[in-house]
This record gives sequence, structure tokens and C-alpha cells, in this order.
Amino acid sequence: MRAAAITGKGAVEIVDRPQPHGLVDLVVVQILVAPMCTEFKSRQAGDVSDSIGHEAAGVVVDAGSSTRVAVGDRVVVMPGYACGTCRYCIAGEHIHCPFQRDVLAESEQPYGTATYAEYVLKPDWLLVPVPDDVSLVHASAACCLLGPSFNASQRMNVAASDTLLVAGCGPVGLGAIINGVTRNATVLALEVNPWRADLARQLGATVFDPTAPDIVDQVLDATDGWGVTASIETSGVPSNPALLASVSARRAGLSIVAWGLDITLPPIVPLGLDVHGVWHWKHQTDGWRMIETIRKASGLIDTAITHRFPLDRVSEAMDVQDSGRCGKVLLFPTEVQDL
Ligand SMILES: [Zn+2]
Ligand SMILES: [Zn+2]
Repeated sequence: MRAAAITGKGAVEIVDRPQPHGLVDLVVVQILVAPMCTEFKSRQAGDVSDSIGHEAAGVVVDAGSSTRVAVGDRVVVMPGYACGTCRYCIAGEHIHCPFQRDVLAESEQPYGTATYAEYVLKPDWLLVPVPDDVSLVHASAACCLLGPSFNASQRMNVAASDTLLVAGCGPVGLGAIINGVTRNATVLALEVNPWRADLARQLGATVFDPTAPDIVDQVLDATDGWGVTASIETSGVPSNPALLASVSARRAGLSIVAWGLDITLPPIVPLGLDVHGVWHWKHQTDGWRMIETIRKASGLIDTAITHRFPLDRVSEAMDVQDSGRCGKVLLFPTEVQDL
């Protein structure tokens, strides 16, 4: 099968790799949509690897001996290879599982855990079934476009009475705006890139330049002086967590989604802040609500997806990501029309 490999600094190419096969609970998904995440940064850094990507939606083509999924099932692929049996996995917190399986060693196969590829091997319970009325393109938003901020919204109970502030309008931030708008919250956003600020406005956010000297007053003015009741930091900019805290209402929620450096915050006791570290969402307990979110947000998801490329043009797709003039970018490993 074809797969993408980072072969040097700034270089990504298509390589030929063995197609995986199913075994026991390990099933093979033909990848029809592979949303692109931060792999372009690995190309910038020259982190050589022939196994890249963790987001996918597709169709089961080899169900092993699974009783959970069958050949032909349409599914979204969850990231990682959690054990499925530890205290975190049983609680739905599989993303935090410390006992990741080595499924290639288990099944004695050389390759098959990347999503910039035609096929991927997954434990059956890490697949989310997609209802017939939801397209696989829209369903793929359950990966990193909507996933992290969906869980942040769940943990902060974001609702119509909230004003949600999103820091950073890259794909994860755009997804946070979509989650907020879909929950009928008032959504504000911080972004310096004019292209992305415009996209955020199209999704329904009021956008501010976080480098403006009076940014705190601007955001407070937008909330009649009370401050925002929830915020999500997706930018990785070191000064943004403290900025979010300084424009938060008392007893607000503040979720850190961006991976990065140490977090600096003002004293949170007088503010009564609930601070959350959020990685990914819980498909075992919240799958139905994610599907409902995707149904309701389908038009917004279409707006946030700005570019689509066949897998063979992955280098061009990463050039677009390098430019910052994009929302979510999708790869299509297989030439299939009906998604
Ligand atoms: Zn586990
Ligand atoms: Zn991702």
C-alpha cells in the first residue's frame, strides 16, 4: 500500500509499505479521509519517519475475529493503542492509558499504525461507528478538529448562557469555535493571522487581536465588564493562559488544549477558576453527543475544511499548512467518490 514518509528536513514522499491484516480484536480500516494535524511541523523539523498521522475515518475491510465491528462498517479511528482494561480505559479516559499496546509486535507485522496511508490497524473498541446519514468527511471532524475542544466544552459545561473565549484560530481553535457556536454560546476568539481571523468570523466568532495594548479592556467590554465564563487555549503562545485568566469572570472555566511549555497563571484562588488540561474526548461515554454535534455543525465543518488533497500530493498539502493560510486540511488516500 501507499503511505507518506518524512524523509528529511522539508521532505515528505510516498513510499510502498506492507498492508496490515486483521487478527483477533485488531481490525483493518481502509482510510478514506485522513485529516492532517501537526505532522507538517515534523517535516519542518526533519523528524524522519515512515509512520505518520493519527486521524482517520474509513471502512472496515478486515474485521479479524471481532464481534464489535464487521466488514463494511463506516468508522472514525481514535488515536493511540490504549490497553482497554486499565482504570483509565474502563472510565473512558483511554487517551491517558499508560499501557499502550504494541499491536505490530502482537500481530507480527512490520507496518500499519499510521493514517497517512491507505490502511490502518486498530483495536476494534477504538473505532466509533458512523451513522448512515453522516458523511465520513464530516465524521472525521471527531478527530482533532472537534475532539479536544469538545471534551473541554463538556468539562466546562459550555452552554447558551456562556461567553466562550478561544485563544488561537488554527484547526483546533476553529473546532473550539464550532463547538461553542453549536452549543449556542457567545464565542469570542484571539488571533493575529488575518486569514485565520477571517475564517473564525465566518464560523460565528467575534475576533480580537491579542497583541492590541488594550486587549483586556476590549474583551471585558464585550462581556459588559463581567469577563468570559469559559476559555480554551489552543495557541501555545506562552502569554495566553494568563491573558485568558485576566479576562475571565469569577468561577469561570479555563481549558488548556495546546501542548507546550509550562503554564503561567495569576493566583487562581481569588478568581475561583476551574483549570482543565484537556487532550482528547471520551468516545465510550460521549459518542452520541459527538455525533449530534457533527450533525448540527455540518455546515460549519464544511467552512473549517479549507483544503482537500489526494495522498499523493501530501507535500503540497503540507506547503499549505506551512503557509498558515488554511483551516483543516484533509488527505484522501483512496479514490472513492461516495464518502
Ligand atoms: Zn488502559
Ligand atoms: Zn490530531
